[in-house]
Amino acid sequence: MTGERSAFCQLNNMKEKIHPKYYNDAVVICSCGNKFTTSSTKKELKVEVCSNCHPFFTGERRMMDTAGRVERFKKRYKIEG
Ligand SMILES: [Zn+2]
Repeated sequence: MTGERSAFCQLNNMKEKIHPKYYNDAVVICSCGNKFTTSSTKKELKVEVCSNCHPFFTGERRMMDTAGRVERFKKRYKIEG
């Protein structure tokens, strides 16, 4: 894990010294373990969220749930708007 991290830092440092190159098969590795390819100036990218684990997707159900509770709360206490 630590070895991977330092290798990634070296990659970042190297990137600034070389000409930007465009990779059509850049690998994106998410912190959740999901991998997919994209187009990027980096051959390898590490991201903390992706469409697989982004709060917009994983938290959608919970957000709707909260909204429902607010509606019930308003009705219960007769709060308008
Ligand atoms: Zn992810």
